[in-house]
Amino acid sequence: MRLSSQGKELFIAASRDLGLNLTGQFELFDQLFDLLTESNQKMNLTGLTSEPEIVLKHFIDSLSCLRSNRLEGTLRVIDVGTGAGFPGLPLCIARPQLEVVLIDATRKKIGFVEKVLEALALPNAYTLWGRAEDLGHQTAHREEYDRVVTRAVSTLSTLYELCLPLLRVGGYLIAQKGVEAQSEVAASGTALEKLGGKLVESVWLELPIIGDSRCLVIVEKTSPTPAKYPRRPGMPEKNPLS
Ligand code: SAH
Repeated sequence: MRLSSQGKELFIAASRDLGLNLTGQFELFDQLFDLLTESNQKMNLTGLTSEPEIVLKHFIDSLSCLRSNRLEGTLRVIDVGTGAGFPGLPLCIARPQLEVVLIDATRKKIGFVEKVLEALALPNAYTLWGRAEDLGHQTAHREEYDRVVTRAVSTLSTLYELCLPLLRVGGYLIAQKGVEAQSEVAASGTALEKLGGKLVESVWLELPIIGDSRCLVIVEKTSPTPAKYPRRPGMPEKNPLS
C-alpha cells in the first residue's frame, strides 16, 4: 500500500520540522512504506502498523539522527541491530553520500532489508546477517567505521560493547534513546571508559508533530578498544560491563 495524501503531507511537514527537504526522495520513502506494510502482513517485522506511526516513529524518528550534525559528507556508517532497516534505510535515502552497512542477527529481517535495497535500487547500502559481537572481531569490520548508529537494541552499557569495537578512533556512536537516556548515561560511564569512548553530548529533541522526547547519545571513540571486547555473543547483554 502506498502512502495516502495525508501520509505524504505528514511526512513532508515532519521532515521540514527537522530542517530537511525530502520532496525529491519522497518516492523512495513511499516505496519503503509499501514494502514494509506488505511484508508486515506476512511476517512480524515491526509492531508499528498505522500510517502515521510508520511515518513518524519509523521514518521521521530515524531521520532525527541527522540532528546530531555528524552524518554529513562521505562516511562509512554501520547500523547495529537494524531490524527492518531503522534508522539505516531512511538515513541512506536522505543522505546518498553515506555508505551504510545494515546488520542484524535475525535472518528474516535482513532478508527484508535486502529486498528493499533491491527494489529501491539503493546503491549506497549493504546488508550483513550476523551478530555485532562476531563482527567486532573481524578485521574487515573492527575499527573500520566512521559512525555507528543504533536504535532500540539494548541499554547503553551493552550497546557500547557492541558498537565501540566497530568504530575507528576519532569516529562517533550516535545512539537513539528516549527518556531512559539520562539514567543509562549515568550507569554506563565505567563501561565507556573500558571500551575507549568518551561521552560528547546528549542531544535532546522532540519528535515532530507528536512531541515525544528523544535523546541522541553521542560518544567519541578516543582510544582503541582492548582486544578482549566484545566478549562472546550474548555476554554484553547478559552481564553488561560496569
Ligand atoms: N533498530 C530497529 C530494530 C530494533 S529491534 C528499530 O529501531 O526498529 C532490535 C534488533 O536488534 C533485533 O532485530 C535484533 O535481532 C537485533 N539485535 C539484537 N542484538 C544484536 C546483536 N548482538 N547483533 C546484531 N543484532 C542484534
